[in-house]
Amino acid sequence: MPGYELIDKKELKEINKIFKNGSVFFRHGFEKLRKNSYKVKDFENKFKKLFKSNYALAVTSGTAALRVALSTLNLKKTDEVITQCFTFVATVEAIVESGAVPVCTEIDKTLNMDPNDLIKKINNKTKAVIVVHMLGVPAEMTEIRKICKRKKLVLIEDTAWGCGGKYNNKFLGTIGRMGTFSFDHAKSITTGEGGMILFQKKRDYELAKAWHDHGHENNPKVPRWEDTRKSSGFNFRMTELQGAIGLVQIEKLNKLIKKQRSNSFKILKQLKNIPNLNITVRATPKNSYSTFDSLILHVKNSKFAKKSREILISHEIGTKILPEATLWHFAKNWSHIKNLKKKHKNNLKKSFPKSSEILDKSISIPINYNMNKKFLKNIKMAFEKIANL
Ligand SMILES: *Cc1c(COP(=O)(O)O)cnc(C)c1O
Repeated sequence: MPGYELIDKKELKEINKIFKNGSVFFRHGFEKLRKNSYKVKDFENKFKKLFKSNYALAVTSGTAALRVALSTLNLKKTDEVITQCFTFVATVEAIVESGAVPVCTEIDKTLNMDPNDLIKKINNKTKAVIVVHMLGVPAEMTEIRKICKRKKLVLIEDTAWGCGGKYNNKFLGTIGRMGTFSFDHAKSITTGEGGMILFQKKRDYELAKAWHDHGHENNPKVPRWEDTRKSSGFNFRMTELQGAIGLVQIEKLNKLIKKQRSNSFKILKQLKNIPNLNITVRATPKNSYSTFDSLILHVKNSKFAKKSREILISHEIGTKILPEATLWHFAKNWSHIKNLKKKHKNNLKKSFPKSSEILDKSISIPINYNMNKKFLKNIKMAFEKIANL
């Protein structure tokens, strides 16, 4: 969860460098002023190198990253894009804004896209699939990738919560044809607002780069105001200030993920020693490396989950999204998105019975970088009470 916990003088120093080098906040041009300082470009290069990817494009948010990625597919009004029902609403919003029809699948025990339901929801209108590594646990990528390949569908990974996670030793966001990242203030690394897209194909990268910049091709043969273009686009450009912060935050990623993992394991170790505690832990796919943004536990039933939450809160331990805040994270509650609702027979509430059953009995404990002994003690006390409910 917490890139913001690690903000220190290093970010400030990097911002100050911009002020020392001509105060250019724009990623393009102003060559005479900027003394060769290109923070967004440097951030993209550092990001793609770390993730062993071919192409990286920085944008203004994780939502924008999804929208820009979809722009490369030239979607029509009747085209369908499938994602999972448990995600942040932004994934579906990006599909809607790209002009296509959003479709949601059920989740499986990883709390990510259920490959079996994906097969059922594919038809001849389906063009792309956006799989989400929800709250830092990778989806079943082997199966999902196989299905997309067989059905000739573009696979995009919404890696907003999976930054630094791996599956079969490959970084999340580099398995599908494109991978999108978010650097909003609640994500693993943050630039306040911001996002990144990784691409496998040069063509996708070039289309996205132009589209996120009003169609600018940044043709080196002409000045920017005479730039060449092939299509219109929009403006989702990252600023140099965000780029500078990103350059520093990314250096903290490895340390951050390691700590989130060890903190999660410490909590689980505490829980193991509590007699009569009837919980199971969210499943992680084989050969996967989770970022553990949150730790999700399953209890007996929905009533029990709500009671558990009350006990956790009374011990100063918050829960995140589950069980209480699915309004923004579960498609069951999104009847305000008209074509999603229509696509699901005007009955979103009843469209995801399997997912509802899993999510209703889940509680999510946010994992912070700084976790003190008191927190662990409180966890222990709270779960001892839960065990005796
Ligand atoms: C945070 C998030 C986004 C959106 O990112 P923003 O940077 O906040 O726009 C998209 N998808 C998922 C799964 C997210 O968690």
